[in-house]
Amino acid sequence: MSSPLVELRDVTRSFPGPPEVQALKGVSISLAEGEYVSIVGPSGSGKSTMLNILGLLDRPSVGEYRLAGSLTGDLDDDQRAAVRARFIGFVFQAFHLMPRRSVLDNVLMPMLYSGVPRAERHERARRALERVGLSHRENFLPGTLSGGERQRVAVARAVVSGPKLLLADEPTGSLDQRTSGEVMSLFEELNADGITLVVITHDRDVAARATRSLRISDGRIEDVA
Ligand code: ADP
Ligand code: MG
Repeated sequence: MSSPLVELRDVTRSFPGPPEVQALKGVSISLAEGEYVSIVGPSGSGKSTMLNILGLLDRPSVGEYRLAGSLTGDLDDDQRAAVRARFIGFVFQAFHLMPRRSVLDNVLMPMLYSGVPRAERHERARRALERVGLSHRENFLPGTLSGGERQRVAVARAVVSGPKLLLADEPTGSLDQRTSGEVMSLFEELNADGITLVVITHDRDVAARATRSLRISDGRIEDVA
């Protein structure tokens, strides 16, 4: 069997206080390539901390994180940024688009320093926008789009570099039910094409769509049957 895409071993993340908070407590999980995983748990239970560690935005205080077979603990910040750019896409609840840049510029952004030639960058960005059904919005500013459209732009930006792992933190938290279903369907198409998908959510219907569900409570994680 090939090694898992993601492997956390006895990961603890403490935030020094006072009072000190242990946001994750000895978490061990493996995710195989191509999995579709939801993570549920009450507010403050450690979900975002977990996603930030998986995304190399944060580091464990104790324990190991292996990504695509390689230990990440010894990487410096530049190396972590490089791995992130190559392997990982993020989608957040609040979209985090650049408000004064066009939709196309937002999707181009992750490739700016990638060494990909300009014409190729534009072609990839246009393909990503086509994929999310927003080709007709490429010259619009984010503020002129609906919430669902903004999140689809964020998805295009997240996948434009062809990541293996897509991490979404409450991606439907600002969307109505119908729009959130559209965004989840889009994620599921990407997963069907092979991307490994991790979705944090408060929404039971969203969580139930995944093929594996994890629950975090008070910094500890378990598979939900
Ligand atoms: P969730 O996403 O499940 O709501 P978080 O992972 O954001 O929870 O937070 C888990 C716990 O860690 C909370 O008690 C939170 O206050 C604490 N925490 C998160 N980030 C920090 C930080 N940067 N500094 C101090 N405490 C933090
Ligand atoms: Mg959170």
